[in-house]
Amino acid sequence: MRFNKTTNSQHVKYIFVTGGVLSGLGKGIITSSTAKILQLTGLNVSCLKVDPYVNYDAGTMNPVAHGEVFVTQDGGECDMDIGNYERFLDIALTKDHNLTTGRIYSRVIDAERKGKYLGQCVQIIPHITDEIKHHLRQIVKTESLDVLVVECGGTVGDIESLPFLEAFRQMTLEEGNGNTLFIHVTLAPILDVVGEQKTKPTQHSVQELRRIGINPDIIAVRCKTMLSKDTRKKISLFANINTNCVISCHDAESIYHVPEILADQGMNEVIRKKLYLKQSPIKWSRWKIISRSFANMHGNLNIAIVGKYISLPDSYVSVYHALSHAAAIQGKKIAINWIDSEEFEHNSEKLPSLKIYDGILVPGGFGKRGSEGIIHAIDYARKENIPFLGICFGFQLAIVSFARAICGLRESNSTELQPDTNDPVIEFMPEQRTLNDLGGTMRLGRHKINVISNTLAHKIYSNNYIYKRHRHRYEFNKNYLSVIQKNGMILSGHSDNNKRMEILELPENKFHLAVQYHAEFDSRPGKPEPIFAAFIDACIIS
Ligand code: GLN
Repeated sequence: MRFNKTTNSQHVKYIFVTGGVLSGLGKGIITSSTAKILQLTGLNVSCLKVDPYVNYDAGTMNPVAHGEVFVTQDGGECDMDIGNYERFLDIALTKDHNLTTGRIYSRVIDAERKGKYLGQCVQIIPHITDEIKHHLRQIVKTESLDVLVVECGGTVGDIESLPFLEAFRQMTLEEGNGNTLFIHVTLAPILDVVGEQKTKPTQHSVQELRRIGINPDIIAVRCKTMLSKDTRKKISLFANINTNCVISCHDAESIYHVPEILADQGMNEVIRKKLYLKQSPIKWSRWKIISRSFANMHGNLNIAIVGKYISLPDSYVSVYHALSHAAAIQGKKIAINWIDSEEFEHNSEKLPSLKIYDGILVPGGFGKRGSEGIIHAIDYARKENIPFLGICFGFQLAIVSFARAICGLRESNSTELQPDTNDPVIEFMPEQRTLNDLGGTMRLGRHKINVISNTLAHKIYSNNYIYKRHRHRYEFNKNYLSVIQKNGMILSGHSDNNKRMEILELPENKFHLAVQYHAEFDSRPGKPEPIFAAFIDACIIS
């Protein structure tokens, strides 16, 4: 093992974050916040999410059931927690930072077919667990990490997560004393009748963890208000850890405040001692300025997000964060109204309800349902001069809306929505035509985009080139370029030698801009993505 300069120790450190009681406790935020504290002490830290489902990646999963598909620069279609890690740590991760049962098994099965295990019976232990451990160690090595924080999706007791937890357990032995640490995230609910924080669910889930050979070092307890002294004591006693290792994760004003909540209880010290890390203070300065900016907001900005998967706001979680990053810089709170585009599908009389908003945003989406409603909403934003930002599907439907209403191409459409349209202004990308599988067949990840001078986009980015992440199968059909331009729309960004259109804008409007790429994935607290910042500025002025 290499010598690690920062920690003065010979070993890389692994922190494993497991979940108990129920899902949706904010394990991703606790993982990101733990990593953030360590990063602020000067360590090279990264995070990895284990998703024990059998899918190879999150690409084919329904966003309404599972939340947004977060796209990494290298084109990984990942769990949305990867977005939290990127936003907290301000680093770009690769798809290797999201590990699924599907990925591990497919690697082991491939190796078996190639004869790697000739003569052996291939088993969960040791072959699957070895592959899991190998994956973690490989990341640590290629990225020269001091600490890798590994979050295990789901809750302890799930059948799917057992091989992963077994691999982590084995690592405690193999990596040696002081090189691994377990944080178990649980919940202390308050029953209205008694008003007391209940510890039984925590006790049970710790027992479950112990049953598989893992003793938690820290218990991070989600609760409405700060954990009481008594509750801490009780958990400490039953879980067999000191009271200072029971950390209260009470509701916070903003997620960016959580690292301070953890550090204020000495979590950094507990980790430092258990992992024999060098003493080094947390250098908060910039982070505290950022987290305060999310607490000191006043004046509401009312934004309508008109989309398809609004029943679960997590389906557009990065869009939400990008808006909030941009608004926080201006000291504004955003009030988002999630509107199902189907509302406008057949009821154009409902469109004036959009008038009350400071801005309208149309995010990504797939398929026909609700698409006409989106087109009507974009028409309305354009006619009423309400600031409009379109993303991916929003870009494509802004073209359809403009082609129909302004260019006289009344029957125009995207071939995704109407394959036999006479005017396919948006069409299937030629290179995707020969592909049969649905998983991993999109144009994915980071691509270079040329930004045309003397356009709004150029003013916003102050650059001739930008690199942005993509996830789409359809694109603007360049046969319609001249008619679209003649009617006043500017296509201000393109990629792949002018082959693909990436940004559109209407100079006549206050702010009517849409992008084929997913600008939201590059936004960070304190550093909003420029298109989002410009949109929010336009919403404030309007
Ligand atoms: N459905 C469109 C396409 O595949 C847009 C995709 C998206 O919004 N991410 O091109």
